[in-house]
Amino acid sequence: MAPRKDDQRSLLVEQQERVRARVAELEAEMDALTRARRGEFDDDEHDPEGATLSSQWSMLAGLLESARDESRQAADAVERLDAGEYGICVDCHRPIPPAQLEARPLRERCVACSA
Ligand SMILES: [Zn+2]
Repeated sequence: MAPRKDDQRSLLVEQQERVRARVAELEAEMDALTRARRGEFDDDEHDPEGATLSSQWSMLAGLLESARDESRQAADAVERLDAGEYGICVDCHRPIPPAQLEARPLRERCVACSA
């Protein structure tokens, strides 16, 4: 059963808030790591933790990028809902099957068009 529009909207807004919080969290972690790395470079001694910090950095950067992506998608989804276009595939303009939307509420294409 498809949720009513108001429920759908609060779900999307909730998701948007969650993703925003995650972006802020990851940004704070990046900040902390940046400071840790700066300390490391001030040190002339070879730091065996340097490699760990670098791989942590790339992992965080990747997570942050996808969180930012998701944040944009969530904002888009709310906008589309308000415009009455939510749940309509942006490519084939047909309604996206509810089961697909349930699995991924932020999807803007049906499974066929995403493939
Ligand atoms: Zn489609």
